[in-house]
Amino acid sequence: MLCLSDHFVLSVLWIEHRDGGLRPMDADQLREHAHKMVDFIADYYKSIENFPVLSQVEPGYLSRMLPDSAPNHPESLEDIFNGFSWITSPAATELEMIVLDWLAKLLKLPDDFLSGGQGGGVIQGTASEAVLVVLLAARDKMLRTVGKNALEKLVVYTSDQTHSALQKACQIGGIQPENCRLLETDSTSNYALSPDVLCETIAHDIAIGLIPFFLCATVGTTSSTAVDPLLPLGKIAKSNGMWFHVDAAYAGSACICPEYRHYIDGVEEADSFNMNAHKWFLTNFDCSALWIKDRNALAQSLSTNPEYLKNKASQANMVVDYKDWQIPLGRRFRSLKLWMVLQLYGIENLQCYIRNHIKLAQQFEVLVAQDLRFEIVTPRIFSLVCFRLLPSQNSKDHGNELNHHLLDTVNSTGKVFLSHTVLSGKYILRFAVGAPLTEERHVTAAWKVLQDEASALLRSL
Ligand code: PLP
Repeated sequence: MLCLSDHFVLSVLWIEHRDGGLRPMDADQLREHAHKMVDFIADYYKSIENFPVLSQVEPGYLSRMLPDSAPNHPESLEDIFNGFSWITSPAATELEMIVLDWLAKLLKLPDDFLSGGQGGGVIQGTASEAVLVVLLAARDKMLRTVGKNALEKLVVYTSDQTHSALQKACQIGGIQPENCRLLETDSTSNYALSPDVLCETIAHDIAIGLIPFFLCATVGTTSSTAVDPLLPLGKIAKSNGMWFHVDAAYAGSACICPEYRHYIDGVEEADSFNMNAHKWFLTNFDCSALWIKDRNALAQSLSTNPEYLKNKASQANMVVDYKDWQIPLGRRFRSLKLWMVLQLYGIENLQCYIRNHIKLAQQFEVLVAQDLRFEIVTPRIFSLVCFRLLPSQNSKDHGNELNHHLLDTVNSTGKVFLSHTVLSGKYILRFAVGAPLTEERHVTAAWKVLQDEASALLRSL
């Protein structure tokens, strides 16, 4: 079965092939590597009593052992094992800081987002948690200035294309529903948020005594991968003293390629930036990378300091305590899988991976454009194609039922799975390339299914 409809990664282990490209491991290679991993764990388990109960390392020990940036070329599994011995929580925290610095550098995020200064990265479970924690930080920061009784005057701005995760964050954060501005977008801007509309709305809100405090822009919206213009939006946020969050949950991964990096130009203006490594970066769910410029702002909202958690390193402010950057206290060693991805693939292979998906989406787009019964609804930017079957001129609902029907018949073949969205009242089909094993032959096969089902449907009218 081809599963082409979503961006979530079902990660398989890949290895470098003799010709330089990446190939999925075959069953024997997978077995061999998995056995090595199990042996490693079993040996550790057998000799567990030889280790001190608590790690004896000093803060910062790991950064002295690892390079400053992710490798360009893949490392072998053997080398990765050697570079990493027994693992406890200091390693988990320090590795998270290091790999998020690596990833920030790969994305060319401003230095303010690196862990060496006042900011840094943290792995959240999901983009929803990421936007929630930064919204809480922004809310409390503003309330410290304007007074804690002003909660009901705080206003959030975003586009009507923003993921509903923001709306959920507002609900949890006590923001009045009527103070969440979902600003309208349309096809003239390819569904990107207009800085002019934002400015006008903010001015109106200030005039009636409300307090703008949070702007969320998206790079790669869920419906159509629209890209909000970060630079002008960020400047507006800054001039109004607002927190500026960028949600690049899906498309952030593409920005590791120099030719796509311009989509996050303006990220210098952001207070926080988020990308889901579990969407399009070969990392298994869950792994959502969040960077902030002012880690204190997060800690001021999320920190608690009960007696049973007190320890010398934290009291002396010598370490990052990620418990103050997230909702739960306990946390998983998620950085390990992101580190493995960066080490095992290397930057160049990861870039090839993204480019290949975008190329496959481009090929699909060409096929659709050549068939005059279809239309591309909004220009493709990354690896998603939004298209639909054109309705006849006398169609009462502009072809919505027709396309709904087409989607149902195509998906019921069991050979391909597409999803849909609605843009400007039009029901639209979404063809997303994002699964690691998708090849050109799958794309052409999927298009053939679509064409055949469309022909049958048109004949039956
Ligand atoms: N933001 C965007 C742009 C998304 O596409 C999605 C999910 O598809 C989300 C946020 C929510 O992601 P999560 O499931 O990690 O909360």
